[in-house]
Amino acid sequence: MNFCETAYASVTARVAVARQAAGAPPPTLVAVSKTQPAAAVRALAACGQRAFGENYVQEAIAKQAELADLALEWHLIGPLQSNKCREAAQHFDWLQSLDRPKLVAPLARHRPPARAPLNVLVQVNVDDEASKSGCVPGDIAALAAMVAAEPRLRLRGLMAIPAPAPDPGQRRAAFGRMRALFDALRADHPQVDTLSMGMSDDFELAIAEGATMVRVGTALFGRRERGPG
Ligand SMILES: *Cc1c(COP(=O)(O)O)cnc(C)c1O
Repeated sequence: MNFCETAYASVTARVAVARQAAGAPPPTLVAVSKTQPAAAVRALAACGQRAFGENYVQEAIAKQAELADLALEWHLIGPLQSNKCREAAQHFDWLQSLDRPKLVAPLARHRPPARAPLNVLVQVNVDDEASKSGCVPGDIAALAAMVAAEPRLRLRGLMAIPAPAPDPGQRRAAFGRMRALFDALRADHPQVDTLSMGMSDDFELAIAEGATMVRVGTALFGRRERGPG
């Protein structure tokens, strides 16, 4: 087996163990392929991986063109600038990083009629750190209502990138806060089904706290040359 296949088998096995321990259905694994060449995505797709996450719109579009022969699902997980809404709406299946009202109307307007509605997650800043992206928890309800009102968008749930805390207990507490916010959102929007949290270092903790989607880069592809975006 090559590195990709070994890493894929190891990550999927760890996900399976964590979700069995949690008594939860299998979470969706999003392979975060930012900075990785199209060939690396192709190799992982050959292992059976279907969902891929990218941080930069232009980088993703170039890769998608090289991989047009594959039926992959593309997630935009990086911060979205308003001048990139059109391309984001045209080239992705999911937007995981909606963090402000201003983006909602342009995303809906530019979603091509031939495609299914764009799946949208509201990104939440669960640590109240000024430097992190994501809306504050108090803004989730209003932003979610705006998305739910757009027929060309489909509200699916929440995403978070908790601040890296050395203490696993602290990290787990942040995931637990996200789970509570997710349950509150679901009470208003029963169609919501996705809580995206957990990365290479902590996806098991996230699954224990109810993640239905994890975003894993390094553990699948190895260390990145460039830093995370
Ligand atoms: C880079 C990135 C990931 C993956 O991080 P790893 O630690 O490499 O698994 C997940 N989510 C987001 C939003 C990212 O930017």
